[in-house]
Amino acid sequence: MKLSRLKLQRFLLNFSLIFVSISSSVYAQKKPNIIVFLVDDMGWQDTSLPFWTEKTPLNARYHTPNMERLAKDGVKFTNAYATPVCTPSRVSMITGMNAAHHKVTNWTSPQYHVSSDNADEQFAPASWNYTGLSPKAGIPNTIHATSYPQLLKDAGYFTIHVGKAHWASVGTPGASPYNLGFILNIAGHAAGHPQSYFAQDYYGNKPGKSTMQSVPDLEEYYGSDTFLTEALTLEAIKTLEAPIKNKQPFYLNLAHYAVHDPLQADPRFYQKYIDQGLDPQEAKYAALLEGMDKSLGDVMDYLKAKQVDQNTIIIFMSDNGGLSMTPPRGGVAHTQNLPLKAGKGSVNEGGIREPMIVKWPGVAKPATTASQYVIIEDFFPTVLEMAGIKHYKTVQHVDGKSMVPILKNVNYTDNQRSLYWHTPNKWTSKDGPGINYKSAIRKGDWKLIYNMRDGSKDLYDLKADIGELENKAAENPEKVEELSALLAAQLKKWDAPMPIVKSTGKPVPMPDQAGIK
Ligand code: CA
Repeated sequence: MKLSRLKLQRFLLNFSLIFVSISSSVYAQKKPNIIVFLVDDMGWQDTSLPFWTEKTPLNARYHTPNMERLAKDGVKFTNAYATPVCTPSRVSMITGMNAAHHKVTNWTSPQYHVSSDNADEQFAPASWNYTGLSPKAGIPNTIHATSYPQLLKDAGYFTIHVGKAHWASVGTPGASPYNLGFILNIAGHAAGHPQSYFAQDYYGNKPGKSTMQSVPDLEEYYGSDTFLTEALTLEAIKTLEAPIKNKQPFYLNLAHYAVHDPLQADPRFYQKYIDQGLDPQEAKYAALLEGMDKSLGDVMDYLKAKQVDQNTIIIFMSDNGGLSMTPPRGGVAHTQNLPLKAGKGSVNEGGIREPMIVKWPGVAKPATTASQYVIIEDFFPTVLEMAGIKHYKTVQHVDGKSMVPILKNVNYTDNQRSLYWHTPNKWTSKDGPGINYKSAIRKGDWKLIYNMRDGSKDLYDLKADIGELENKAAENPEKVEELSALLAAQLKKWDAPMPIVKSTGKPVPMPDQAGIK
């Protein structure tokens, strides 16, 4: 009798726990949790998940099983874009503005009031916002705008930033994620890359050796063998405990420093790529990639273990294309982005097309592919719509369009839209293909690139020629004229910064004034 009463008690306890669990997940927290998993400098093909019509040699080289897993649960975007470099993409993402509009058209130096543009013989610098994003008005050379993490926080979200920030220079409010709407910030500051990925180096904080790139906040790992990617993952997971326990919806911006240079091997995965026959530089990059992928898997496992995976949206994205030229801190190029042309810094597809995946349980159909073109400023209206936030005020006019209609129906069509890229800057001292002083527009399958150096224009049919190998401008003058006019009209509307021609003292002509060359 005693035993059966105990059994009954256990049964009732279990029943009540189940009831509490169901009621809390279904009723108490209606708003979804949202994670943006942002990778740094990862190329479109730097994954075992194919984003093209066929599997490429790069797909065969890399191992990213958790990206494959995420794609099985969600929507793979094959025409997702960012800007050619870090800060413009990160500012576009959280403000919803195109880079030509917010005018942070190049990466921001961590140093206060220092432009990262290289000097040039032909051009004087454009007046771009080289200090980055600011949540306050009146900060010189910044774009004053409202971030969506701030709007999420205002709506009751627990907002967390972990990893690389790189929104603004030191000495300005935008340098700290705390001022951009995040309740918690771990390891994010003004710098765009880590001094070191190794805990043995204190991530760049060894006494007497610290620089602006020393990664903050991770003291408890110093001297251990915890690679930076792993430390950020462990810390990100820790930050989720409280909001999950409190049933408060959370937004996590998990922005890895990987796979930006310095090219340092994640020791957990390095040897397998050496055994696979890669050279050490390539193996280091592949190991950095797989460490990032493991982080994605660890986060997904944690959400499942905590039974919040069905109420958590995950958006996977990279901020620009793979670095296909000599890295700034030495070594040889470690990726090529093939079949795409060029890489980081370029408005060619290799610089801007990104691996993007969205898992939205119960809304987006698993294992589907969306081929509509989308761009990183679309994150702003998308995330707010996902969070059910409809009425909000922003300082800025938002250029991005919500991707929610595509996520609800991957066959949703909207062919009228144009996308824009604008680099009135000298990112590298060498003018490689598509690099430095370029603007571009994509409308439908056509893409036009305007070369500010000589006024020339390239026209590509991306459907037939994803590698941008055949310039079709000469045989399609009407299309060149149409896209030049659209590009010029948009740049004028946004008052986009243009370089100054030293010989005339005037800005570079708009693309519709440059004629057809
Ligand atoms: Ca980047």
